[in-house]
Amino acid sequence: MNYEFWFVVGSQFLYGPEVLETVAARAAEMAAELSKVLPYPLIYKVTAKTNKEITDVVKEANYDDHCAGIVAWCHTFSPSKMWINGLANLQKPYCHLATQYNVEIPNEEIDMDFMNLNQAAHGDREHGFIAARLRMPRKVIAGHWPDKTVQKRLGDWMKAAVGVAVSKEMKVMRFGDNMREVAVTEGDKVEVQTKLGWQVNTWAVGDLVKEMNAVTDAEIDALVEVYKASYDIATDNMDAIRYQAREEIAMKKMLDAEGCKAFSNTFQDLYGMEQLPGLASQHLMAQGYGYGGEGDWKVSAMTAILKAMGENGNGASAFMEDYTYNLVPGAEYSLGAHMLEVCPSVAAGKPRIETHHLGIGMNEKDPARLVFEGKEGDAIVVSLIDMGGRLRLICQDIHCVKPILPMPNLPVARVMWQAEPSLTTGVECWITAGGAHHTVLSYDVSAEQMKDWANMMDIEFVHIGKDTTVEGLEKELFLNDLAWKLK
Ligand code: MN
Repeated sequence: MNYEFWFVVGSQFLYGPEVLETVAARAAEMAAELSKVLPYPLIYKVTAKTNKEITDVVKEANYDDHCAGIVAWCHTFSPSKMWINGLANLQKPYCHLATQYNVEIPNEEIDMDFMNLNQAAHGDREHGFIAARLRMPRKVIAGHWPDKTVQKRLGDWMKAAVGVAVSKEMKVMRFGDNMREVAVTEGDKVEVQTKLGWQVNTWAVGDLVKEMNAVTDAEIDALVEVYKASYDIATDNMDAIRYQAREEIAMKKMLDAEGCKAFSNTFQDLYGMEQLPGLASQHLMAQGYGYGGEGDWKVSAMTAILKAMGENGNGASAFMEDYTYNLVPGAEYSLGAHMLEVCPSVAAGKPRIETHHLGIGMNEKDPARLVFEGKEGDAIVVSLIDMGGRLRLICQDIHCVKPILPMPNLPVARVMWQAEPSLTTGVECWITAGGAHHTVLSYDVSAEQMKDWANMMDIEFVHIGKDTTVEGLEKELFLNDLAWKLK
């Protein structure tokens, strides 16, 4: 989908046609200039002067699949009762860009004509009131529009809004149920469809096996060439690689036939399959599909959404699991991995394809998988949990490092990180909030973007960052609980 955003500028008839023409010309200029630097086009739509014009543009936005959100601004004063009918019906993300055309107050030029045209300082206050009064989810970004920080924040918000659009169309294909007895990977599928738009349904593993048996040698040859071009082959077991190609081709056919952008499976239900998909799932994730192990369809959908929110619509975001700690004082790290399925979009170098025995679940043969180290850099880990009656999104700031040990006998991809505010306080906060062992780890989606996304989705958001304390978080969770029960 080619997403775009609409620039709607508020005004009124009071100022006469000349001022309105200037407003329209400047708005078109700003949209065109901003579109050169923003991740998605900003299309100037209208200088709205009446209730009908606003209501009409909102109706159009609601029905246009390409429109991922509205950016509003008031160059002149726009009485906000005109906006009520439109905003009350708005179903798309909404950002209030509180900006000003000019950067400087001109000493000689300033007179009452100038004041009539350049009134964003009070026009945007009137506009902000009505959104506050309507309790609308919104993003407010203030600053001069050519400013790099303002542009970066608007671009980041656009990506979060695209995450909303992707969420509302999300279809998850489940192969098998959740791992037996696991609690945190469960969830109310009706609630997630109502709130987030996700269609989560199941397909028989037997149907996947049928699809696998129908894959031709020529199809497998072609995909193995793609593997060879992208990865180093560090095994003689070509049969294992070819088997993963067979699994990937079959899963991709089924996903694409149903329009699914995410899938889950479980090592407890591989009936008729020789291997748990490892390389197959990893290479599907590299192409933007979400994945969750052990039937974790929530983390699968979130992986696809964070990928879509990232750079060029498929960023460095991966299904991850907290595995083990390094608790040496002064060198406290988390080691994240999974039994096979870590997305190579987070790799520091070229991943290697290796084959190893997998001692868990039903695996007749050694599955091929990509092995690599995660790259260094600031990142987040994200977990969506079902609190019963509401969804909670937990997001923690982390800093990924080059793994401090080579770990030559670890047969899976690994990422090592320091959590904010520290490993132990971070763990205490994460556990207090109920965060899962499965997460999405992302290098190019920020906590602010996840907050914006949760806000637009109308779900609870909990952020664990450098200033978080256990005491403060406990208080926040207690108050959140009350607030969400009243909501
Ligand atoms: Mn797991």
